[in-house]
Amino acid sequence: MSFLSTPIKQAVEQVSAHLDTPFFIYDLDKLTTHLKQLTAQTDVKLWYAVKANPLSRIIQCLDSAGFNFDVASKGELEQVLAQGINSERVLNTGPAKSPAQISHFIARGVRIFVAESINQVRWLNEQATKANCQLQVLLRVQLRWPDSEKNPLGGDSLTPFGLGCEEWHALNVNDYPALKVDGLHIFQWGNMLSTDKLAALWRAMIQPLQQLARALRIELNILDLGGGLGIPYTQDANRLDWSALIETLASIKAQAGVAELWMELGRYAVGECGHYATPVVERKENYGQQQVILSGGINHLLRPAITNQDFPVTVLRESQASLTTMTLYGPLCTALDCLGEHTLANDVDEHDWLIFSQCGAYGFTESMPYFLCHELAAEYVIEQGNIECIRSAEDASYYLR
Ligand SMILES: *Cc1c(COP(=O)(O)O)cnc(C)c1O
Repeated sequence: MSFLSTPIKQAVEQVSAHLDTPFFIYDLDKLTTHLKQLTAQTDVKLWYAVKANPLSRIIQCLDSAGFNFDVASKGELEQVLAQGINSERVLNTGPAKSPAQISHFIARGVRIFVAESINQVRWLNEQATKANCQLQVLLRVQLRWPDSEKNPLGGDSLTPFGLGCEEWHALNVNDYPALKVDGLHIFQWGNMLSTDKLAALWRAMIQPLQQLARALRIELNILDLGGGLGIPYTQDANRLDWSALIETLASIKAQAGVAELWMELGRYAVGECGHYATPVVERKENYGQQQVILSGGINHLLRPAITNQDFPVTVLRESQASLTTMTLYGPLCTALDCLGEHTLANDVDEHDWLIFSQCGAYGFTESMPYFLCHELAAEYVIEQGNIECIRSAEDASYYLR
């Protein structure tokens, strides 16, 4: 199965005929079809983790498909509200909720929060009291397994997301009358491609979470499992089967005895709808390595540099040439700017464009566009055959002061 569809290829051909700088393009038809499958069930309440891709038109598709919205900053909140989405459908997670941010969220109508520390619980209660409102709160839990035990997470690194069970034990929910502590949130894994592994992970968490809820004397009405559902970045990678996943989640829900199961999906919701196209600047051989230098690299697509996982890539032009291994480099003067080693037609040269796929999540806004002052990438969408420019390319004068 190819990551690249004919409509996207044709759209890239059209756009690249008049634009000579890199751009993203999102297939909203494909996105909508995918999202409708995700929301065609009643077992899991779905939220969209806006950090994956905050583009207006993407948010609008999620809204139409029935998703709610998980935001982690004032900027994400305002972008969601600007699309006409009611603040009752917004949830706030994130490790840096200052009293000022909480106050802003409450003023904008947000009433559902995931608390990641005891300070956050206190601040939520204070700001809710001030605003004379009641908030629904989930406590974010970070589980660790003793070294000697089989750890379903593999290597578990300590993060600032939430608190361990022992730390939460210091909380007395009766001290916070403006809050309804309604359940727990746990999310500490990413890009998982195996339903069995996810099921084992989720099952292993139920007992410690139930124990914590009992100790805190809160009802575990809601269990929020975060995101972490993966998409394939190589041809041979496994692909999650949504209906099998829903079956698993329904059984987890029953086993945990919760009224509601929530997830906030980022990558799995939007990752596959996006592509990134860039011109080739030159091709050279260096110490026997075939090097392709691209107009855009980690300035627009940072993820390969921080995860060591490349995006799949195709040459726009059809070629009969034999395949060869090439290493793709971006335009930044740092060795970090490498988009991986790929097998491409041996006649790739400076007249070509490359198209990276699976770039709908953690692309444009996760990157480092200012370093070295190259152009900002444009963003296009294709919907019902129409190509639309949502953000035009800008050169550095746009932001330099
Ligand atoms: C990033 C994030 C998600 C989405 O993660 P994906 O792996 O992209 O699905 C969900 N919940 C929280 C709290 C997050 O920070």
